[in-house]
Amino acid sequence: MKFIGTRGGSAVTGAEAIVRGMAEGGGLYVPEVFPSVTAEELEAMLPMSYPERAAFILGKYFDEYPRGELLQALETAYGKFEGDDPVPLVKIEDGLFVLELFHGPTCAFKDIALSVLPYLLRKGCDMLGIQSEILILTATSGDTGKAALEGFAGEKGVKVAVFYPDEGVSKMQKLQMVTQEGENVDVVAVKGNFDDCQMAVKKIFRSQECNEKLKEKGVLLSSANSINIGRLVPQIAYYFSAYCDLVTSEQIKPGDRVDFAVPTGNFGNILAAYYAEKMGLPVGTLVCASNRNNVLTDFFKKGTYDKKRPLFRTMSPSMDILVSSNLERLLFELSGRDVALTVERMKSLGSAGRYTVRAEELKKMQESFFAGFANEEETVECTYEFFEEFSYPLDPHTGVAMHVARTYCRKRAEDVNAEQRPMVVVSTASPYKFPQAVYYALTGNDVKDSFKGIKRIHLITAMKVPESLKELRYKPPRFKAVVAPDKIFEEVLNFA
Ligand SMILES: *Cc1c(COP(=O)(O)O)cnc(C)c1O
Repeated sequence: MKFIGTRGGSAVTGAEAIVRGMAEGGGLYVPEVFPSVTAEELEAMLPMSYPERAAFILGKYFDEYPRGELLQALETAYGKFEGDDPVPLVKIEDGLFVLELFHGPTCAFKDIALSVLPYLLRKGCDMLGIQSEILILTATSGDTGKAALEGFAGEKGVKVAVFYPDEGVSKMQKLQMVTQEGENVDVVAVKGNFDDCQMAVKKIFRSQECNEKLKEKGVLLSSANSINIGRLVPQIAYYFSAYCDLVTSEQIKPGDRVDFAVPTGNFGNILAAYYAEKMGLPVGTLVCASNRNNVLTDFFKKGTYDKKRPLFRTMSPSMDILVSSNLERLLFELSGRDVALTVERMKSLGSAGRYTVRAEELKKMQESFFAGFANEEETVECTYEFFEEFSYPLDPHTGVAMHVARTYCRKRAEDVNAEQRPMVVVSTASPYKFPQAVYYALTGNDVKDSFKGIKRIHLITAMKVPESLKELRYKPPRFKAVVAPDKIFEEVLNFA
């Protein structure tokens, strides 16, 4: 299977796409054609373990990777997750399910892809005969950074530099990152918000000068952000797996359509669901849930993407984003894979801060997606009511998705002609990762100390506290640097 760039360039293998991270002209890699999963293949996936299901899906895209080795890498990666099932599907009530993607080492869904990316990258370099050191450069809104650090720490021939917005991540997220162990890692706070941070990092990727300076040092840049196709493909697998679980638990019959609601920031997670649908998974509606930063909600309603607005800090910091990078991949598909048009739109986004899609594209978007948002008050209220009703605690990101999903379901239930389908809400983080916000949502009270918050949430919910968060309390911080966005490259060079 080959991959092409959304802004043109030549087709490359999966290994090349993963190692490069970003395609020519600043574009993103997409599969040349979507591989399909037939009804028979889907049936064959039913008895499989999660690593086997994932190996099956990844193998369709990355077919030059030896299948046995790929499976082994996935088994090792998901063996580090807490519990028996790395991606359990929890039934809340008839027709409503939560897909828990937070049982990995950093308690957020980014672990699913970032715990296999090191293998994909290392093997990719081997297959391409690349001997230079790889520098993973990552901008994070909180969760990617830690998952990348955890995935790559101690990995030979690889260094990881993580940049996070100084005031834009939760206390727990920051603590997770600055206490990271390992000699091959660097963690730096950047003055500004996530968009400033992401923009500065993207600039380094695009700059020939930066790339050449690093080359002189024998270093090759790569990305662990969700622009890397090696991040996206492992995320497709859990949509297939959740569907399989619904079939094996006799909640649906094979072929029935299922809806997914996804708390969305950079549009990577929900794009993986869209890819799953393109591959043949029976998907109904994809519910794109945003927090108060509702640029995507407006886009799906009106067809104009307009990033010129203030960025709010919310209790769901991993979704505090105004420029959703992966949307470029959706635009590419909607336009009929029109490179010139995609380039034009991305240019317009850079210069005017906005672009508008054609009426027929907007129609296609609205057929596949329903978009909505939850403000802070709605998130708190949904989290409180959901716990009261089902004794199930939601983290703030999942709270946003649950609010939008339930709004959508309520609306559809009123329509007698509408097909009533099961809803799977994708849970992207453990409630213990955002203890202050969750404790406030559940009780209306503040708690200053994160670890006290964890204890109190445990008393109320009896949900198991992840070991990795418990341990944090006793780990000394190692990284203190704070830099301006235009000083990021200096920091990168020093580290390299
Ligand atoms: C990254 C993240 C999101 C947003 O996912 P995208 O793929 O960027 O849309 C949502 N919730 C949590 C907890 C995250 O870490």
